[in-house]
Amino acid sequence: MKIGILGGGQLGRMLIQEALKYDDEFYTLDPASDAPCHTISNFTQGNFNDYETVLNFGNDKDVVTIEIEHVNADALAELEKQGVKVVPNAGIIKTIQQKILQKEFYKTHDIPSPEFQVVWNSDEKIMMPLPFVQKMNTGGYDGKGVQVITTEDDYQHLWKEASVIESLVDIDKELSVIVAKNEAGETNIFPVTEMVADPKLNLLDFNVCPVLLTENVQQQIDAITEKFLNVVNSPGLFAIELFLDKIGKVWVNETAPRLHNSGHQSQEGNTNSQFEQMYRVVKNLPLADTDAITYSGMLNLVGAEGYAGKVIYEGMEKVLKLPETYIHLYGKTETKPGRKMGHINVLADSREELMEKLVKVKSMVRVIA
Ligand code: ADP
Repeated sequence: MKIGILGGGQLGRMLIQEALKYDDEFYTLDPASDAPCHTISNFTQGNFNDYETVLNFGNDKDVVTIEIEHVNADALAELEKQGVKVVPNAGIIKTIQQKILQKEFYKTHDIPSPEFQVVWNSDEKIMMPLPFVQKMNTGGYDGKGVQVITTEDDYQHLWKEASVIESLVDIDKELSVIVAKNEAGETNIFPVTEMVADPKLNLLDFNVCPVLLTENVQQQIDAITEKFLNVVNSPGLFAIELFLDKIGKVWVNETAPRLHNSGHQSQEGNTNSQFEQMYRVVKNLPLADTDAITYSGMLNLVGAEGYAGKVIYEGMEKVLKLPETYIHLYGKTETKPGRKMGHINVLADSREELMEKLVKVKSMVRVIA
């Protein structure tokens, strides 16, 4: 089968890496000539936001999928009309691309998500009491396009673009659950993972799995995933990002219609990884089992502050000597502060041991130039 992927980043790269054991041809589209997929697939340099480019890229493929959601969804809808299979479908990508539509989706389907107000322009009065969170309707990514407004003074910093104004959740933990559904309607849910964020970069730092949850919290999450899989009118692999608040209530923050950073430790930590599952979803094959084999965790390798240029991974030899520790690099030649360059997965017999190992690995490596 000819499988086309919009986006040629690390998510696509790891999908292809996993799927090469099967017999398919992979095609990727990305604006960067040195995108992580360019050496391992049939690569087209081009803009996945451009209607014609996406149409031309997709029209001779058996199936087109995405590894980033900021793509031209109108072109995907047109490809569907022309008979190309698109996974996930253009409709759900459009809904998720726009924070306003995404929030309305949760509301319509009674999926608990923080209370919100839609603001189309800066003349509209904000009714939400302080403090609150402003999220741009479109264009946000990796913590950009999200800001907390705490005081009356902060009102001057409000973005003028169409936004969602959302109540601020008193977060205890940030959790994520990856779910999958194939065209046949079969579903699968990965064990819940916990994300420990780096407050400075606002990028995921550690990601650990499984998470010890009370029965009540697990039930809330089960209800959310069951509801989501029931109402989502599309095959796909979806990462549902959750907040557990300090009084034990679970809220959906947002959903990514694709492979997700919070699922990377599944490469060695689970019986099958998110990449294997994505492949099966794309091809409408029986879904894989995804149980956690043991405790697993992931450390993002991001470019260190103050370094830009040809990447050097300091400390890798030391990491390679550690047992149950797995390095994954994304094939990016240039580093810059905060850029995701790779990750390291670690396995352990307990959560305590896992955190210890992750902290140790973190102290050993630096991504510099
Ligand atoms: P992105 O799409 O950039 O990942 P998110 O919507 O996930 O943006 O927001 C980034 C971070 O901001 C979250 O991981 C969380 O820490 C914080 N955040 C977002 N929404 C809320 C909220 N309603 N209450 C409290 N914190 C929030």
